[in-house]
Amino acid sequence: MVLADLGKSINQAIGGLVSGQQDVDEQALDGMLNEVSKALLKHDVGLRHVAALKKNIKSSVNLENTPPSQRKNVIQKAVFDQLVALVSPTGEQTESAVFKPRKHKCGVIMLVGLQGAGKTTTCTKLAIYYQRRGFKTGLVCADTFRAGAFDQLKQNATKAKIPFYGSYVEPDPVVVASEGVNKFKKEGFEVIIVDTSGRHRQETELFDEMVQISAAVKPSQTLMVLDASIGQAAESQAKAFKEASDFGAIILTKMDGHAKGGGAISAVAATKTPVAFIGTGEHIYDLESFTPQQFVSRLLGIGDLQGFMERMQSLKLDQKDTIKNIQEGVFTLRDLRAQLQNIMKMGPLSSIASMIPGLSQFADQMGGEEPTNRLKVMIFAMDSMTNKELDSDGQILLREPSRMIRIAKGSGTSISEVQEVMTYHGTMANIVKQVGGRNGMLNQMQNAK
Ligand code: GDP
Repeated sequence: MVLADLGKSINQAIGGLVSGQQDVDEQALDGMLNEVSKALLKHDVGLRHVAALKKNIKSSVNLENTPPSQRKNVIQKAVFDQLVALVSPTGEQTESAVFKPRKHKCGVIMLVGLQGAGKTTTCTKLAIYYQRRGFKTGLVCADTFRAGAFDQLKQNATKAKIPFYGSYVEPDPVVVASEGVNKFKKEGFEVIIVDTSGRHRQETELFDEMVQISAAVKPSQTLMVLDASIGQAAESQAKAFKEASDFGAIILTKMDGHAKGGGAISAVAATKTPVAFIGTGEHIYDLESFTPQQFVSRLLGIGDLQGFMERMQSLKLDQKDTIKNIQEGVFTLRDLRAQLQNIMKMGPLSSIASMIPGLSQFADQMGGEEPTNRLKVMIFAMDSMTNKELDSDGQILLREPSRMIRIAKGSGTSISEVQEVMTYHGTMANIVKQVGGRNGMLNQMQNAK
C-alpha cells in the first residue's frame, strides 16, 4: 500500500517510547514527535500540516496528569486521532463522503481531474460500485478533446456491462454531456456518471469547460480524481481544481503503488475536502470507500476488518457448482480455475493481508513478487484447456503429456508452469476426495449462500 513505510516508521517511533525503559517524559515525547514528523515529511506530507499535527498532539497529551503506566497508550491514541484529523479535514468526519443515491431519483456524479489521474478507469469502477448496490447506473463520456477517450470508456463499460453514452462526431463536450444525462434521466437511471476531459491546449480552457459542463448537468456531486503517486504536486493541483470546480470530494487513485503518497494527504488537508474512495489497482473492482479511521488503522497495521468484509460482500463470489462438486468428493480443473478466479477478484493478496489485523506484517514480508501474478499464470494456462480437459480430474493430461505441451504453447506459459498447475490441482483434488461429502462446514457454507 502507498504509505506502508510511513505506517512502519510511525509505529517504530511510538514503540521506541517504551523500549527505552525509562518513564515517558516530555523529552521522550518530543523525541517521538520529531521522529513522526521526519517520517511524514519524508513521505511528502507538507511542512505546514506536519507542524500542525505535532502541535496538536503535544497539546492534547498532558503527561503530568497521566499515570506513567498509561502514558504510552495516551500518546498512541493522540497520534492516531491527529492522523485521522489530517485525512478528515472537515473535522470530525463521521459521515462517509460517498454520494448516496435514492431509488427512483436521478443523481448525477461528475468526475474531474488531470489526464492520467485515472478518471476513465475510476468512472467504471464507480459505476460498478453503484450498480452492485442495486442502482440503475449509466456512464457518459464528455471528453471530446482526447481522441480515443470515448473508445476507452466504451470498452471498460462494455466489459462491466454498464450502459454508456458518447459521440464520435459531436465536438462540444457540453452538448454530449447534456444529451447523455438527459437520455439516461428519461430512461429512469438513478446514478449517471459523467467523465470529463483532463487536458486542453490551455489550462484555462480545461477549467472553463468543467464549469460549463457542470452548469449544464447540475451534478449532485463533483469528484476530483487525484493520483496519489505524484508527490508534492498533488496539493497545488487539487487547489487549482478546487477553485475552478469546487468539487465536493476526492478519489485518490493508485493507492496500491509504492509511491510516498503524503502529497495526496496534504491535498486533502489543503482543500478541506473529504476523500470518498481510494483506487487500489487497475482492476475494475479495485475501489474502496474511504473512512479516515479505517485508513489510519490500516496505515498503522491495526487492520481494517470492516473494509475486508465490504470487499468480500461486494465480490458476489460464484462457487455454487464448486461447492456441490466438493461435497461429492470431486474437484475438476474447472473447479480449480473458478477458485483461483475468486481469489483474483479479491485483488492483490498483499492489500487483502493489510486489512486483516496481525497480517499486515505478513503483507510487508511478501514484498517482491505479488503472489497473484503466479495465480494469473495458472489461470492463463487453464484458459487454454479444452472443455473436456477442464471438466476432468486431470488424469487425461498426465497420461498424454502432449496435451500439456499444447496448453503451454497456446497460453504462452512454460511446460513447468503447466506442470505446476497439475501438481497444485492434484493436491487439492486429494484433499477434496478425503473430505468430500462428510464435511459439515461445506454444508454450512452452502446454507449461508
Ligand atoms: P484518465 O486519463 O484520468 O482518464 O486516466 P485513465 O483512467 O486512462 O488511467 C491512467 C492509468 O492509470 C491507466 O493505466 C490505469 O490503468 C491506471 N490506474 C487508474 N487507477 C489506478 C489505480 O487505482 N491503481 C493503479 N495501479 N493504476 C490505476
